[in-house]
Amino acid sequence: GEKSKELLKLQGEIESSVVSYPRNMPIAIKRAKGSIIEDVDGNYFIDFFGGCGVLNVGHGNEYVLKYVKEQQSDLIHALDFPTENKLSLIKKIIGHLPEEIQKDYKVCFGGPTGSDAVEAAIKLAKIKTGRDGIIAFMGGYHGMTSGALAVTSDIFFRNHITSLMPNVHFVPYNYPYRDKSITGDNENNISGIEYFKNVLTNGHSGITKPAAILIEPIQGEGGNIVPEDGYLEELVRIAHENDVLVIFDEIQSGFFRTGSFLEFMNTKAVPDIITFSKGFGGIGFPISGLIYKKEIEAWGPAAHIGTFRGNQVSIAAARGAFDFIDEYNIGEYAKYIGAYLMDKLKELQLDSPFIGDVRGRGMMIGVELVKDRDTKEPFPEFVKKFRAECFQRGLLFEVGGHHNNVLRFVPPLITTKKIIDNAIAIMKASIAVCQE
Ligand code: PMP
Repeated sequence: GEKSKELLKLQGEIESSVVSYPRNMPIAIKRAKGSIIEDVDGNYFIDFFGGCGVLNVGHGNEYVLKYVKEQQSDLIHALDFPTENKLSLIKKIIGHLPEEIQKDYKVCFGGPTGSDAVEAAIKLAKIKTGRDGIIAFMGGYHGMTSGALAVTSDIFFRNHITSLMPNVHFVPYNYPYRDKSITGDNENNISGIEYFKNVLTNGHSGITKPAAILIEPIQGEGGNIVPEDGYLEELVRIAHENDVLVIFDEIQSGFFRTGSFLEFMNTKAVPDIITFSKGFGGIGFPISGLIYKKEIEAWGPAAHIGTFRGNQVSIAAARGAFDFIDEYNIGEYAKYIGAYLMDKLKELQLDSPFIGDVRGRGMMIGVELVKDRDTKEPFPEFVKKFRAECFQRGLLFEVGGHHNNVLRFVPPLITTKKIIDNAIAIMKASIAVCQE
């Protein structure tokens, strides 16, 4: 619309050109509720972007807003001093872990962003082990601060930045659509599990023993890739056998995104450190942190600090989001509605030779576009056009993947069937235009 264009033009003039919004999604936002965004011209959009996996309980969720309003009139900023608000949230976080491991874990707030939590996790692992190296995964995304950037594989974000945290080594992520087997024998003939094992155990890998491995249990920005059953368990087993810590970055996969509180709970793999952020802030309040095993606590008072960690309004929003999810059983609903969306996308796949893969867990779903289903050659050009067509018809979503050819759907978990049906109709019409 006209007003959106005006604001986009102004933004281009006075705000840094580094802003990241898809240029083929030219929208200026006025307000949002649930799974729907309204732009400044009065157009409505279905939000499968979900604030990049943040708005799990929906935009402006009234239930959560009540907690926020009550808290902000009492106390907003309290540094690390104890408050009932904060301790109640920590109890909720621990209380949502599997019962048998609850007593083993502690919580540490990291600061406002996911990157803060990643930095804290890396630091804790290094202090605990007295070692320096980190094994990270190809296609992984962990943030933009220096340490988090060092463990993020995409060179696009690292060009000309040559002085990042040293001693990071990337190994292949298990990518079922493009791998041949659980060993991770992928198209480049790099054998995932074997290679990983070699890195940890072989005196000729050139890599000294790392402090930790850092992995997303479902790769988010990498294209919502769910690894094969057993993969994470095998990684954890090998890491622990070699006295290496395991960090799961659940910043995107966590907070009921996949139906369970955390994705690791859908597997038998148990990490030593878990990072959280995004959805924890309920309706978009900044919060992040770690859940880690008490036995690895190796840092003392004030060894890691942060002015804005433990923000009381963010914490109240997180409490509200937990209570809302528990009261309305949103975890179960996410599984149910995610399966519904996945089924509809698989039906769509029957109509299009370019949809190579539909995958995901709960409401974290990836659709991979290829030029040919046999060669699986990525088709990012199609994705670009398709997103522009969907935008025109009122559907927003993120694009990601190792080859920028994956539609990333991370809608609010409360999205209704009716909204999904509308989104599917938009995709159907858009595919038809793109295939003409
Ligand atoms: N880890 C993961 C898995 C993420 O998806 C993200 C954000 N996309 C981050 C870390 C970084 O979070 P932030 O942008 O809040 O620093």
